[in-house]
Amino acid sequence: MIKLNPNFFKLKGSFLFAEVSRLVDNYKEKNPDKKVIKLGIGDVTEPLVPSVVWNMHIAVDEMGKKESFRGYPPYEGYDFLREKIANFDFISRGIDVSPNEIFVSSGAKEDVANIQELFSTDIKIGITDPVYPVYLDTNVIAGRTGEQIDGRYQNVYYLECNQANNFLPEIPKEPVDLIYLCFPNNPTGQVATKEYLEDWVAYAYENKSLIIYDAAYEAFIRDPDIPHSIFEIPGAKEVALEMRSLSKTAGFTGVRCSYTIIPKKLRIIDHNNIVCNIHDLWLRRQSTKFNGVSYITQKGAEQAFTKEGREQIDKVNDYYLENARIISETLTAIGIEHIGRKNSPYLWCQTPGSYLSWDFFNKLLNDIQLVVTPGVGFGLCGEGYIRISSFNSRENVLEAVSRLRQLKI
Ligand code: PLP
Repeated sequence: MIKLNPNFFKLKGSFLFAEVSRLVDNYKEKNPDKKVIKLGIGDVTEPLVPSVVWNMHIAVDEMGKKESFRGYPPYEGYDFLREKIANFDFISRGIDVSPNEIFVSSGAKEDVANIQELFSTDIKIGITDPVYPVYLDTNVIAGRTGEQIDGRYQNVYYLECNQANNFLPEIPKEPVDLIYLCFPNNPTGQVATKEYLEDWVAYAYENKSLIIYDAAYEAFIRDPDIPHSIFEIPGAKEVALEMRSLSKTAGFTGVRCSYTIIPKKLRIIDHNNIVCNIHDLWLRRQSTKFNGVSYITQKGAEQAFTKEGREQIDKVNDYYLENARIISETLTAIGIEHIGRKNSPYLWCQTPGSYLSWDFFNKLLNDIQLVVTPGVGFGLCGEGYIRISSFNSRENVLEAVSRLRQLKI
């Protein structure tokens, strides 16, 4: 008899953004004349930059000619892209990453969801609270957690982020095997200093842990002292891998392209004392389950790692950061405390008075037709917070802040 994976039933009812969408659709159905502005889900709104579009056009034409047509792409990505990424994002900044340590993929969500497959189900995972839900849910589905009791899964080490620790979780006091870190952080927008990451690398060495470093928002870092990569920390290549995405960096949420750096030096010793090379294991996994990213996509992505393409992309990201500044100014004016936004497209805001996250979400939707994301959807420590995203047109952001100024709290 066919049986379902029982771990699915440990998950919360629906994915956070699906629930937000359901409530918004419901509201729109009942109020068809009202204009809803969405600053909830982190999806970009600005089109691809000309340099990316130009290269994709060339690739489309190549695919239409017998002599330049290409079939399946390499599992790890085309060399032309891996070389550009290594040179532009790492080597030029003095960071030692070689092209053959880069795996091109169709999304950081996919990679961050799939990477846990390499590890045993009896390891302990360390996850921040609040957290990008994919890290946690994929481990739940894999059976690495116990049941959920009072909003917390058993066998998970929760790295709490709150006002007291400036939303930078403390290093665990016990051994944790697989640690997920994300900077600039989604949802809080908080960034990590070099010194802070050094402590994590030292911890990982001492405890033989592995750090999954999600740098999906590194392109928004403007402060020159903030590291873009965990590999800026000496020794990190032996204890960490890093994921990056073109989604927010270059407006690729609908095109789909990302990359994961797995250093050749990254080895782990498993329970049977066998030394395993994570790089080779991931290649084995990818070549079994993944058939690569399309040539057209990779040609478009290539432009993000050229001077011309990056200048165009930076302008778009500066536009979102200016949106974030405008929102921040208004929040300060109406007395809503918040962090983030300076090196991140997100603002993590304390709900005013005694509003819980979902109550304030509903108030904003009903009173001023503004959609945000309830903080508690990212974890228990998110209760009493909402996340505001700056991904929208300037026109909509200006309309949203003018509505916020009229909000009666
Ligand atoms: N990692 C973080 C922290 C994210 O916020 C997101 C998307 O919102 C992703 C990964 C997924 O990126 P991609 O679009 O490349 O799948």
